[in-house]
Amino acid sequence: MLLDYGIQPSTSNVKIDEIRLDHCRVCGSARNPDDRTAHGAIRGNTSRFRGRTFRLWKCGRCQTVHSLAKVDFNDIYKDYPVNLHQTLDTFARGRFGNLLSRLKRAGLTKEHRILDLGCGNGIFVQYLKEKGYAGAVGFDPYVPQFSQLDPNEKFDFVIANDVIEHVAEPRAFLQECGERLAPNGILYVGTADSEDVDLKHLSKSLMKLHQPFHQIIMTQQTLEHLGAEMPGFHLLRSYRRSYMDTLKPFVNYRFLDEFNRALDHEMDRAFEKDAAKIILKKPRLLLFAFLGYFFPSAYEPAIVLKKLDRK
Ligand SMILES: [Zn+2]
Repeated sequence: MLLDYGIQPSTSNVKIDEIRLDHCRVCGSARNPDDRTAHGAIRGNTSRFRGRTFRLWKCGRCQTVHSLAKVDFNDIYKDYPVNLHQTLDTFARGRFGNLLSRLKRAGLTKEHRILDLGCGNGIFVQYLKEKGYAGAVGFDPYVPQFSQLDPNEKFDFVIANDVIEHVAEPRAFLQECGERLAPNGILYVGTADSEDVDLKHLSKSLMKLHQPFHQIIMTQQTLEHLGAEMPGFHLLRSYRRSYMDTLKPFVNYRFLDEFNRALDHEMDRAFEKDAAKIILKKPRLLLFAFLGYFFPSAYEPAIVLKKLDRK
């Protein structure tokens, strides 16, 4: 199934709840399980998983962070708070506006067929349709409403935003994205950044580590490398800043990070109706609401690839 790149089952020589990982899934470097400096542990950031600790390994060569958690994707996504609770509110519209401007820069028009791959509960598809992009559809194997897609249908744009970090095998995922594209089609891939993930201070990166949902977190350089090595594709553009980073009040990554920190990094609480009241208790949040763009706490690399016409 698309996106469901299963993880090797655990064997008797590893903990029951961890996968066996011998090599980096990106560069192939060997993992030494006894190297403490290359490993760390962090709690989950959702209500369901905040009481559990998950181990991570950071590849010394390519800086890719791997989750060692053994997870059943059907289980962890059955009550995923993002899919259950996020809405197309003012803040979502703000960051989607920025994402749309990137796509338009890559040539997107209202006549194009667009696939939002890993669309969650479909709010970006909803946004695109509202803006007149009638050819937008979504696919997400873990959301019943979006779990069906004609396997032969091709698209002019495939958007996989904040998805590749949720799969275990990034190359297989990118290949799947590429196969969905028509010739000359455009693939946009955005993700979390592993460059500043410090294994000694993982709590600083709690939101983007997002355990046990994020399987693999890479650097901008690695994302570019994975895109550039795709046969039949050309790397058009690479971004470092998060698509969430705008000058609009409240629409920036730093504010979201600080807001979640104020809620003790329990993501479900951020979706509650009265969550914004925390701003009254912590006025410091207002500083980041308005100026967070200038003080990013993390980057979110993205690449734009073009599928070459090889008739
Ligand atoms: Zn590596």
